[in-house]
Amino acid sequence: ITEACLSEIEAQGVLNAFVHKTPEIALDMAKAADARGYADGAALNGIPLGIKDLFCTKGVDSQAASGILNGFKPEYESTVTTKLFASGAVMLGKLNMDEFAMGSSNESSVYGPSVNPWKVDDRNLIPGGSSGGSASAVAADLCIGATGTDTGGSIRQPAALTGTVGIKPTYGRVSRWGIIAYASSLDQAGPMTKTVRDSAIMLSAMAGHDMKDSTSADLAVPDFEAALTGDIKGKTIGIPREYRLDGLNADVAKLWDQGAEMLRDAGAKVVDISLPHTKYALPTYYVIASAEASSNLARYDGVRFGERAKLGAGDGITEMYEKTRAAGFGPEVQRRIMVGTYVLSAGFYDAYYNRARKVRTLIKRDFENAFAEGVDAILAPATPSPAFGIGEVSDHDPVQMYLNDVFTVTLNLAGLPGVSVPAGLASNGLPLGLQLIGRAWEEADLLNIAYTLE
Ligand code: GLN
Repeated sequence: ITEACLSEIEAQGVLNAFVHKTPEIALDMAKAADARGYADGAALNGIPLGIKDLFCTKGVDSQAASGILNGFKPEYESTVTTKLFASGAVMLGKLNMDEFAMGSSNESSVYGPSVNPWKVDDRNLIPGGSSGGSASAVAADLCIGATGTDTGGSIRQPAALTGTVGIKPTYGRVSRWGIIAYASSLDQAGPMTKTVRDSAIMLSAMAGHDMKDSTSADLAVPDFEAALTGDIKGKTIGIPREYRLDGLNADVAKLWDQGAEMLRDAGAKVVDISLPHTKYALPTYYVIASAEASSNLARYDGVRFGERAKLGAGDGITEMYEKTRAAGFGPEVQRRIMVGTYVLSAGFYDAYYNRARKVRTLIKRDFENAFAEGVDAILAPATPSPAFGIGEVSDHDPVQMYLNDVFTVTLNLAGLPGVSVPAGLASNGLPLGLQLIGRAWEEADLLNIAYTLE
């Protein structure tokens, strides 16, 4: 399988999904897997995976698709990749993404965009972002599964736009240790695969308590695959009326109704619910995520990691910081740092950052109220539209790009799990996804409901 994936990666290089390839490591790991054979705790024995460039992999380039981390080869391995490899998985290489996971189209990458294997009229389309390389690689069969991270939709949105499956687990389910930080109170890693079953198997291998991440939960990890019974009789599924936006894309609306019908046919009760603070989620998210990013990215100073800009005679430490950061960070990352610094500044902290924190609590409470009324999961669209063309949005309008995240950011703010499953095709032939949002720590139940939509 590893050899087949390696040759497919070469054959489909135009997708620009793998940005650092590790064929020698992959073949060594595959040989070790053959020698070891299947055993308890080796559910992924010999399964070739792609790893998002945001994960630190020991001795292998890990640069979060940023120029500022050019040449950075970590001395350590992230907890997630350590666990996957301990479970027998094989690393094929590192996957393209938006720079520091900021974006919804994979166009802010220093390596250039990854391309969606789906096409309309031979046009190159975005695979979604930020885990665009992961989605494109899984959809094009360059690997069996991939790691993704999701701060505001970066697993679910690219999965939806490429006809694949992606789950963002409950905040704290998966260790963040060794994953390059974007917005620490929102970031969470998860699997991206072809099927719900593969996601279940991979999530069981990735998840679990980690002493190195104080926000990781000390809870037993269920066997998520064993939970896939397909029996959802008696479950209550909520349809949030605030997600039915004015002018909602007709294909999205149709597949949403169809998804509700499928769940009803499988024995679930489908009810209307209200999540009244939904309309504040996007601005709340972009204030909080940018604030945390501006703080997390302060560490890239030209001293400790990656590249330092060329300095002139007489340049001191201030010029070194300024020149390194101006040259190393791309325009979207600089925009986020400026927004984040602004909302955290003394004069504006209360008006923006503190206000956003309060609204975040209201958004979380909306979900708690729905679950308290007996809803087991919430069904919503994953994206407002199918994949768009490369260059169509990014070049002129960052706010337009942010609007892509309208259905996905809500649950990151609430810390809840969410999964995107393929819902069918839009009228232009491109895939669309549906999203299921679950109760905290109930990924097993959530995956089982998603399984009935597959
Ligand atoms: N598109 C969102 C952003 O740019 C979400 C990204 C993510 O989940 N990493 O912030």
